[in-house]
Amino acid sequence: MNIPVLIAGGGPVGMSTALELARRGIRCMVVERNETTTRHPKMDITNARSMELFRRMGIVPQLRAAAVAPDHPFDVSWITTFAGHELQRFRYATVDQAYARIQAHNDGSQPLEAPMRVSQVEIEPVLKRAIDEAPLIDVRFGVQMVDLVQDPQGVTVTLRHRADDRVETLRCEFLVGCDGGGSQVRRCLEIGLSGQENVMQRFMTHFKSDAREVLQRWGFAWHYQSVHGTLIAQNDKDTWTLHTRFPESAHGSPDPSALIRRFTGVDIPHQVLVANAWVPHLVVADRYRQGRVLIAGDAAHQYIPTGGYGMNTGIGDACDVAWKLAAILHGFGAEGLLQAYEAERRTVGLRNCEGSGRHNQVRVQIGKLYDERLEAPGAEGENARAEVGEQIRQIGNAENESFGIELGYIYADSPIVVPEAGAVVPTETLAYVPTSVPGARLPSVYLANGAALYDCLSDWFTLLVFNDAEGAAERFEEAARSRGVPFKVLRIDQPELLKIYDAPLILVRPDQHVAWRGRSIQDLAAAHRVFARALGWPTHV
Ligand SMILES: Cc1cc2nc3c(=O)[nH]c(=O)nc-3n(C[C@H](O)[C@H](O)[C@H](O)COP(=O)(O)OP(=O)(O)OC[C@H]3O[C@@H](n4cnc5c(N)ncnc54)[C@H](O)[C@@H]3O)c2cc1C
Repeated sequence: MNIPVLIAGGGPVGMSTALELARRGIRCMVVERNETTTRHPKMDITNARSMELFRRMGIVPQLRAAAVAPDHPFDVSWITTFAGHELQRFRYATVDQAYARIQAHNDGSQPLEAPMRVSQVEIEPVLKRAIDEAPLIDVRFGVQMVDLVQDPQGVTVTLRHRADDRVETLRCEFLVGCDGGGSQVRRCLEIGLSGQENVMQRFMTHFKSDAREVLQRWGFAWHYQSVHGTLIAQNDKDTWTLHTRFPESAHGSPDPSALIRRFTGVDIPHQVLVANAWVPHLVVADRYRQGRVLIAGDAAHQYIPTGGYGMNTGIGDACDVAWKLAAILHGFGAEGLLQAYEAERRTVGLRNCEGSGRHNQVRVQIGKLYDERLEAPGAEGENARAEVGEQIRQIGNAENESFGIELGYIYADSPIVVPEAGAVVPTETLAYVPTSVPGARLPSVYLANGAALYDCLSDWFTLLVFNDAEGAAERFEEAARSRGVPFKVLRIDQPELLKIYDAPLILVRPDQHVAWRGRSIQDLAAAHRVFARALGWPTHV
């Protein structure tokens, strides 16, 4: 029997793709070459948009339970060493404070969810438990995807079982390569990467230490940064990750303890958990799809971690590809959705690649401000530290403040979004500008009854109706019924929200993005044309 969707790679993106397919009623299989989830901490921030997407999967409470406590801040602190001085601190709200801000500013400017501090070591087991519990997901760890051959009807995939080297072939209707930076799926498709490879040589030291009196000398912070690297507080208790340059003097493998000593400036008791060299890239795949095979996550783009866009962009890919495949497999979506996946997500991939490179340059710029005066005693040192601290403040910390990148990505040129003549499309990367322009993520608000608007959306298409004098809802309902498209009308009797939403009728897609908006819909045929376009059928509106 054919597997509707086979997912190669059980990292965060592969597991999220599976969860999103399953909640849309699609059976899938995840093959992961490793026997267990990762031991490498890698990502340490799940941004607010990813949390909104995880909320729909119903796993936010489980994720929060694995994350840093909700009353701990996301501060970023520039220091000399822990034996020396704190030069500047960028203060960021705790999860509790972020939720309070969301409630206090119900104007569409806020995400529905607060971000989350958590490492990949912690997040992957939560996702793994969720896929293990989902009846529609067949989870196979210890199984590697080695080859694929596709034809117009499906894909034949060769798998190798790591335990006994057994080789098996399986047939699926679609294959999604979520198999990371070295993606075998991408290689099989001979898809190239464009951008800058091997941007720098880094060394990671992941360690345990109870030396909180040193490492929290100035209170809790999420990132401590200096000219020597970045120390990530993974749980504000005893687990830390240090990223440094690969020391030029090191022959073979550097001494992780010496790197910890150089960053902290003092000897601290510690136990190294994992230490290895790694190389960041700034690359995006030239294509995201060939025929029935698609790629997502690090298989499609790899960034320097500044900004935390790697996994977060991948979660966006996962939710995008999953609803599109599900719509095709349910029969109401057409192949145009596959083209749209690349058009929508590759544009975001390129934008985030550029953002991550830009943020990295800021760290380089700040590193150049460091000199020996910062450790000088007396007035000379004090003045130098005050001066550099102020320069750091002025340079800022856009990598943790680019809400335009996180929330404001707009599929304005997507072939499945109904374009609007004269629409103003915000392109800000720093500030998030709430807008319902076609292609935008729908601004999030709480309704007068206390419910979050997002929680009231259907899993598929929803027509928001603020004002419908001409019976548009019935036309859309009729068109959806005859096409077999799951559809809901959400009437909102709050005229004040029109200031935020700008249009009395908004058709929202399964991924919370706007497919179409307007004042009315001419007739049933026009409603059909909107659905046809939004679902990738060859009809032009
Ligand atoms: C130091 C560092 C810090 C980072 N910080 C952040 C951050 O704060 N926020 C953020 O969003 N991102 C961050 N990232 C990036 C993030 O870790 C990646 O973007 C993320 O892991 C991508 O997820 P993925 O599922 O696409 O790929 P991966 O996590 O690489 O998962 C791919 C999976 O596929 C499996 N696999 C590979 N080949 C095969 C095969 N042939 N068959 C079967 N399985 C296969 C692998 O074993 C792996 O489990 C960071 C990365 C690093 C290195």
